[in-house]
Amino acid sequence: MASHGSGSVRRVAIAGGGIGGLAAAAFLRRAGLEVSVYEQAPELREIGAGLVVAPNTVRLLRRLGLHEGLADTAVRLEVGWEFRRWENGEVLFGQRLDDSTRLYGEDTWVVHRADLLALLRSAVPADDLRLGVRATGVEQDDDGIALRLSDGTCVTADVVVAADGIHSELRGLVTRPEPPRYSGICAWRSLVPAEAAPELARRPVQTLWLGPQRHLVHYPVSGGRLINLVAFTPAGDFDVESWESRGQVADLAAEFAGWDPRLEALVAGATDAGRWALLDRDPIDSWTSERLTLLGDAAHPMFPFFAQGAGQAIEDAAALAVCLSDAAVPVPEALARYEAVRAPRTARVQLASRGRRGHHHLPDGPEQRARDAAFASDDPLTHNAWLYSYDAEQAAREDVPTGTHVR
Ligand SMILES: Cc1cc2nc3c(=O)[nH]c(=O)nc-3n(C[C@H](O)[C@H](O)[C@H](O)COP(=O)(O)OP(=O)(O)OC[C@H]3O[C@@H](n4cnc5c(N)ncnc54)[C@H](O)[C@@H]3O)c2cc1C
Repeated sequence: MASHGSGSVRRVAIAGGGIGGLAAAAFLRRAGLEVSVYEQAPELREIGAGLVVAPNTVRLLRRLGLHEGLADTAVRLEVGWEFRRWENGEVLFGQRLDDSTRLYGEDTWVVHRADLLALLRSAVPADDLRLGVRATGVEQDDDGIALRLSDGTCVTADVVVAADGIHSELRGLVTRPEPPRYSGICAWRSLVPAEAAPELARRPVQTLWLGPQRHLVHYPVSGGRLINLVAFTPAGDFDVESWESRGQVADLAAEFAGWDPRLEALVAGATDAGRWALLDRDPIDSWTSERLTLLGDAAHPMFPFFAQGAGQAIEDAAALAVCLSDAAVPVPEALARYEAVRAPRTARVQLASRGRRGHHHLPDGPEQRARDAAFASDDPLTHNAWLYSYDAEQAAREDVPTGTHVR
């Protein structure tokens, strides 16, 4: 097994080349470590869909030197975000996001997933990335760890990071193996050419339409050429969980029939629809086994209702690099520190995201009216300061009592 004497880290192997794995590679390289990423897919590609990149994530991308690239491809939410009522588009709540910059020093952006992945990849040399090879297990001892790959080879490292997504194969080595839980919700996503979208949807606004048991979110991506649409509806007996899974545009349209005509017009502009079942997991207490640790959805998959899954994976990456770059700290302690700083934060976001399900999907009636009335006095940008003002690198540098996050 690879040994580098003092226990400090020189070489890190990462299983999974998604947003989390590539962000980890970029931050670890920036910290001066050798990194190899092993991705099962023969080519790196993200299925078309959008992502909100909030200030807590933008500040980290800026430190990787990726901010200009983000500005080139993403759309800044200049006008802000708004919630609308399903049947008539009444604005229940609206907020400009200029304040995002004043409060948190960064804007909020919306980006095509493929563009974000390409940006992260640009921060990782091609030689550090191997495609078409699956991580299948690890062997470890006091001196090092070996990552087993599907081509029959093993690579040695000081640390292995499992960034292999919600169905992580390696997760079962650090916590009780359990399949993710089926939520009963299905997610739809589609991209609508801007010229086929109503004017309302072309504005630089994240718009959330709330209706009984459903909601739909849209915003422009790819410099405004496309409108990203993501919708959440009851899944019925549909239980396929895969970004590759297809649905019918007509079925998506039927889910929103009778909603505001502008929303119906937007859905009618869709040429294609992805459909998959949303899965969920509870927060876990332990992410690490000696030299193996989890990152991103492998550790803390969450409902997308706070638009933070990728953001939390990128925060993990930044914090991990801080923890592993302290040459005086032995690996197990460095990873315990990483876990201690990240687990409470990501558990909070996971649970907050789960809590939004009921809030967004209330049936018409008094409870829904009370929710809508409460919107009038809402200020999510400020009351979510815990989310947006957070600096993952700074948090990892502060004193973290390890072991205290266990719930
Ligand atoms: C509808 C929807 C909307 C969302 N919106 C937002 C948003 O607005 N903002 C936001 O921040 N987040 C959002 N998210 C969440 C975000 O997409 C995920 O949290 C994020 O992609 C997780 O990144 P990851 O790298 O951990 O996992 P993944 O993106 O799943 O990447 C895992 C990678 O590992 C590879 N892999 C798997 N197994 C192996 C193996 N054994 N060996 C090697 N490679 C392997 C996979 O091929 C994949 O490339 C949304 C999610 C959904 C479902």
